[in-house]
Amino acid sequence: MPAETPERRVRRPGTHPAAKGTETRLGLVRRVRRINRALAEAFPDAHAELDFTNPLELLVATVLSAQTTDVRVNQVTPELFRRFPTAEAYASASQEEVEEIIRPTGFFRSKAANVIGLGQALVADHGGEVPEALEDLVRLPGVGRKTAHVVRGNAFGLPGLTVDTHFQRLAHRLALTEEKDPVKIEHAVAELLEKREWTMFSHRIIFHGRRVCHARKAACGACPIAFDCPSFGQVGPTDPAEAAALVTGEERGHILRMVGIEGEA
Ligand code: SF4
Repeated sequence: MPAETPERRVRRPGTHPAAKGTETRLGLVRRVRRINRALAEAFPDAHAELDFTNPLELLVATVLSAQTTDVRVNQVTPELFRRFPTAEAYASASQEEVEEIIRPTGFFRSKAANVIGLGQALVADHGGEVPEALEDLVRLPGVGRKTAHVVRGNAFGLPGLTVDTHFQRLAHRLALTEEKDPVKIEHAVAELLEKREWTMFSHRIIFHGRRVCHARKAACGACPIAFDCPSFGQVGPTDPAEAAALVTGEERGHILRMVGIEGEA
């Protein structure tokens, strides 16, 4: 027997307590947790979209993902990982050879220098292994806090919030914080959620930002967290059919059914 379509609750644009500045701290905490649960249902398969099989591969792939898409990185890493399977191999690589392989990811000169420098630093300071500690990771060439959290969360299973461009946009649209600096956003949102949820919450938010809550035209009328979003209708159409056309990704049919837009899936 098919599952019943839940009744869709929406507010008029601009009427959410967070949009009017009347939301309490407790209201915010409850709202973030509802958002997390709804996104878990919308994106049961949310994960890091970079391909990797070990911490070194994820570290290198994340460094390469700056200013480009995960899809593009995944196109070059099979050859890169085959050619350079260890930190020692990167440490002794020629700049030209690495550049040639990673060229499609853009900024390939500085990225090649970074992955070679990464290999050298791992060999010199960590016995060729990727360290787990945040303070060790952020000292590696080309590795910022975001990359460090991606590696800790996905290669080592340590909780961390990855604040990328999608996360920053969504944190503001959802009025989770007014902070602008990524590190401050990370700390502010971390306080709203249980630690064990941090890694998956960032995956879900990033999936949602890529597939539904687009930077230019968000699919508000087909959004599974519309009721809890103070920006509903302010950054995209509320009309269900118009919004449904904006939803992308493998989960599209599932999401449209979840929000009760039958026939569009
Ligand atoms: S798609 Fe619209 S309603 Fe959904 S989170 Fe983004 S801005 Fe809010």
